[in-house]
Amino acid sequence: MAEQAYSLELNKTIDAKKAVEMSCKGLLRDCRAFKCSDSCCSIDLTCTNWGNREGKRFFFTPTKNNDLHKIWCNNISQDELSELIIAETRRAKRIIKKNSKIIMLAAPSKSKSESNETNNNSLQRKPSSSFNRQGNSGSDKRESRHIYSLQTFVNLFKEKMTNSSEKNISIENEVVSLDELFVNIDDHIILSKLRIHYGLAKLKYINSDGLLEIRFINNKLKIYSNINQIVRRKNQMFIESIVGTDKLVVVYARGYLIKKDNYYRLNRFSDKFYQDLYFEIPR
Ligand SMILES: [Zn+2]
Repeated sequence: MAEQAYSLELNKTIDAKKAVEMSCKGLLRDCRAFKCSDSCCSIDLTCTNWGNREGKRFFFTPTKNNDLHKIWCNNISQDELSELIIAETRRAKRIIKKNSKIIMLAAPSKSKSESNETNNNSLQRKPSSSFNRQGNSGSDKRESRHIYSLQTFVNLFKEKMTNSSEKNISIENEVVSLDELFVNIDDHIILSKLRIHYGLAKLKYINSDGLLEIRFINNKLKIYSNINQIVRRKNQMFIESIVGTDKLVVVYARGYLIKKDNYYRLNRFSDKFYQDLYFEIPR
């Protein structure tokens, strides 16, 4: 379910209520002439309550029944995201069970896909066909081995799989185990390699636009992000009540640590930083 969509008739993004209004006036003709407005997702969408101003709720729903927003889509609802994460975690476990390797990839970059829209290669970058089949059948032999979501990796790590020391995750030029992929930055620091660094941190605002400083309590690593981006994901909204307090939060940060002056900085893995950060209340 999305509140906004890209209208193929208007060539712009419009919200569902407005689309219905325009359909009542005959200014828009086809309830199916919409796409997800996140250009890295772009699934076909249909506007509900078409031609019916009296409708209670207005939104866009996937045109094809088994079409899902991509896991990196900006317009995804929390329910849809949770479902996709569960499916991705299951798929990752199945792949590991079969002694295959899972491949950690960053979400496709918006700018790249926009600039290459007419290029077929760019379309192949999006593993949408295999991705969309996920969950339909556990026996699909060509199941995609690509795993995108940081939260999926956190799920695998926290479940303490018996084979967490087995090298079954392909990242860039390396194949690592879950134990190697996750680096507790209170124990040690790994520089310039793609890792998921984690530890306890405090959060505070740096300015009134929501710029957020995430300071790990080992006092070495500081990361900056924007609260407005992070809380797009409802399961991360809890951090709003933690910012500026003494409360600690577990932060998982995916990327490359580099050392600058006396501090470490994180170079992100994805184009969208909020997809490389995941927050949890410590147990
Ligand atoms: Zn989407």
